[in-house]
Amino acid sequence: MFRSGLSRFSRYRGRRARFEHDPQDEAGLDVRLDRLCSAADSLGLETPQALLSHLAARGLTGQLPRLSACLTALEQAEGPLAPGQFGRDLPFDSLNLLERALDDDLAIPDFSHFAHRLGGFFAYAQENRRGQIADYIPELAHQEADGFGLALCSIDGQRFSLGEAQTAFCLQSVVKPLNYALALALNGENLVHAHVGREPSGRRFNELALDPDYRPHNPMINAGAIMCASLIRPAQPPRDRAELIRRFVMSAAGGAACTLDEAVYQSELATADRNRALVKMMDEHDAFPPGTDTRAALDVYFRACALSLDCEALSVVAAMLANGGVCPVTGHRVIDPMIVRHTLSLMLTCGMYDYSGEFAFTVGLPAKSGVSGGLMIVIPGVGGLGLWSPRLDRQGNSVRGVEFCQRLVEDYPFHIFAGVASD
Ligand code: GLN
Repeated sequence: MFRSGLSRFSRYRGRRARFEHDPQDEAGLDVRLDRLCSAADSLGLETPQALLSHLAARGLTGQLPRLSACLTALEQAEGPLAPGQFGRDLPFDSLNLLERALDDDLAIPDFSHFAHRLGGFFAYAQENRRGQIADYIPELAHQEADGFGLALCSIDGQRFSLGEAQTAFCLQSVVKPLNYALALALNGENLVHAHVGREPSGRRFNELALDPDYRPHNPMINAGAIMCASLIRPAQPPRDRAELIRRFVMSAAGGAACTLDEAVYQSELATADRNRALVKMMDEHDAFPPGTDTRAALDVYFRACALSLDCEALSVVAAMLANGGVCPVTGHRVIDPMIVRHTLSLMLTCGMYDYSGEFAFTVGLPAKSGVSGGLMIVIPGVGGLGLWSPRLDRQGNSVRGVEFCQRLVEDYPFHIFAGVASD
């Protein structure tokens, strides 16, 4: 029955990441700009303003640093559309993007319709006022319980947002995939996984439990994330190590503002008994690399959890992962593709705490939630979503976040195994 429902959107299937260069077009800039103008003309886009509206309807706006110089030049141009109006030094990847926008070949082809449907899922989830706000970190209890924001960024940088998408919130566990990716980039897979497993724990995110080799189960729960933090530049002071994580998050978010929420950091330090107990337990079993300063590791971890982004920035992080490690808004590579693959694998199997198996079954997308109500959802080869709604369910996931995801995959073939169940 669901076969025919999903096949309507078969254009979404089998998309690949967009890497830095698209070598297929060897023609020079002038030839390609001429072609671009003719393509625009044949669509009835005779002026720069008409072209800009065409791009905006597809989610391509000045929010995209790699296109913004060109869009500004077009805004200022007068008269019929001409090759000289696209600004100087138009980079090839911006040109590729414009060509795809006119060819109707963007990652999200039917953007206005898609955005409209997301609006419907958002409104549906907004009705839900179930769940409790986390208060075991006292500062989190000050969050607005009914706050709700959502942002989307495609791997082509098409953007759309709803509700409080520009309200910054602290990432909490949503930072864990990036903390893990950075630990891998600095140490390599062998060292990292000598100290942390890659198996779902099936228990709460802060449970006092280790795997049979006395390692934390995986990097997406507290013990494993503290372990990864211990591997990030261990010889440097915690403040500098946390600053490195902050900069890494910022580049993953395409340069968006990322600040440390000092009040949350202090609040977490003051109520850290469980996390200290996790460290003691790991210490007892010699789980850390020899010579680890575990107090410093914990401090780095708390600072990382207190980093704040808004949904718009978080959607760019998710889209970067969906795009194999190249940030779609800047065009810069942030993470090696193999590290992205490892990170997504663990988000899929362990990203939603002890609801991860259920979420993989019903939604089938790599995601990571946090106790502040943040949720990052990756749609590989399509884009990413950043969501914030602080009311949590029993497992600690955003109630509206989970509901939104369930609605999304009912209508779109984004579940990673959707392809085998549709025609
Ligand atoms: N900083 C939180 C803690 O350590 C992170 C937990 C979470 O988001 N699940 O408890």
